[in-house]
Amino acid sequence: MRAVVVGGGLAGAAAALELASRELEVTLVSAGAGATALSFGSLDVAVPSPGVSGLPLRDATATRLLSPRERLAACLRTRPRHPYATLFGHSGAGSAESAATDAVKSAAASLDGWLAPSGLRVEGGLDSARLLANVRGALRASDFAFTGPAEGDLQGAAEVEVAAIAGLAQHDARPLARALAAEFAAIGLARPALRVVPLPLPGGFVADGGSPARLAARTDTEEGLGVLLEAVAGRHRDEARFRRADGERRLLLLPPILGFSGVKAKLARLREAAGCRVAECLGAPPASPAGLRLVRALDAALSREGVVVKQGRVCALERTGRRVCAVRLSLREGASHTEERLEAEAILLATGRFLGGGIHEREGGVHETLLDLPLYDGAGVRVDGLAARRLVGPSPEGPQGLFSLGVRTDSCLRPLGSDGAPLFENLFAAGDLVGGFDSAVERTGLGVALLTGLRAAAEMGRLVEEESP
Ligand SMILES: Cc1cc2nc3c(=O)[nH]c(=O)nc-3n(C[C@H](O)[C@H](O)[C@H](O)COP(=O)(O)OP(=O)(O)OC[C@H]3O[C@@H](n4cnc5c(N)ncnc54)[C@H](O)[C@@H]3O)c2cc1C
Repeated sequence: MRAVVVGGGLAGAAAALELASRELEVTLVSAGAGATALSFGSLDVAVPSPGVSGLPLRDATATRLLSPRERLAACLRTRPRHPYATLFGHSGAGSAESAATDAVKSAAASLDGWLAPSGLRVEGGLDSARLLANVRGALRASDFAFTGPAEGDLQGAAEVEVAAIAGLAQHDARPLARALAAEFAAIGLARPALRVVPLPLPGGFVADGGSPARLAARTDTEEGLGVLLEAVAGRHRDEARFRRADGERRLLLLPPILGFSGVKAKLARLREAAGCRVAECLGAPPASPAGLRLVRALDAALSREGVVVKQGRVCALERTGRRVCAVRLSLREGASHTEERLEAEAILLATGRFLGGGIHEREGGVHETLLDLPLYDGAGVRVDGLAARRLVGPSPEGPQGLFSLGVRTDSCLRPLGSDGAPLFENLFAAGDLVGGFDSAVERTGLGVALLTGLRAAAEMGRLVEEESP
């Protein structure tokens, strides 16, 4: 049987890897980078966010920080249209919670296995949250995070040294440290001692307008990493007299500059040079190398596991009755384009939303790009054909239909028509294309991508088994 996955973000890549592990023939078609490539370094399964409509940070009496497991349960209980409720049930019953917890553990372990050969690990879990800082000094309670920021848990750190790098754009150590202090005060937690520590990098090392991504590319070379190691070791010697905390309770916080591969090994060497824990900050707009790092590690895994990847754009799906049977794609080869047709017994749309290209606005209304599938906002209202501006709420804290819209699916992740029945027997959807959540508010973005990608792959596998002679 042949499966086609449309989309090369986390949802599509996870599905393709899972299908390959079930020894199914799978082709992944990707038109390029989507939201996954822009992500900031955490794998949010059920993370609180500062907005009033986000998942809660504390319990109902506001005395205790909720564990990620409790927040996942709260998501299932209170958000009946969230994709987690579609996957695990939304009754709030213990069975839904334990199914969700088991699925999260197993999904994180699978992803970790696929990324580890590229030196990227999935760290964390549902038992306790880590408190991570982003490059603006905002505090993020995180359940899972990738190597780099994951090592930067501020809990348990008595002293945090914020590295200042002269000339580096999008990273200003002093405001970061001030914002971090204010964040700790705002949530009422004791804060570590915060100190800004200039890293003396040689002139010209931070070049090309000071872009963190360019600096990250430099630390991918042994020479560039050597320069960074020398600066960190030099600082460690010079700063010895200021230190109060021992190595484990001290944390050196770097901007996200540790390159696009082998981050785990780089951190180990930096830790030795600094004599303390070392981590990167989480990214923040406009960009972060963390997302590109994740996409590269996924691409390496796809290649290792034998998934055929085609760089091109699916332009149309062919259908017969209630089945989709082939995709037609336009492939880029240098400056020229060729067309190809791929037959498939099951097709997954993991095309994302506006950033990925799965949803777009045309002729004054929002539409699903490939089949004009019905779209629903987070309140369950059908919205395809409506102008994007009509889906923007009046208050930034209130619900934003534009950012929670997507297809509605059954529990097998098959897109539903307006009558509530699956439109096709063998068409599936995963990731941001599935509506009912706003990843900026609920902070469940990559968690949904991973869990729906894996579930869709399992359902595609089941379909094949049922249909095999
Ligand atoms: C700036 C930013 C930062 C974020 N940071 C985080 C974070 O730190 N942690 C977190 O958990 N979540 C984060 N999120 C949310 C998270 O990134 C998304 O929820 C997640 O990446 C969605 O993955 P996806 O695979 O569904 O879609 P995408 O990553 O958008 O992938 C869609 C894919 O489909 C392809 N595609 C679309 N149409 C076609 C077509 N016709 N033919 C072929 N290919 C096609 C695209 O080229 C792309 O490869 C962030 C989001 C943004 C915007």
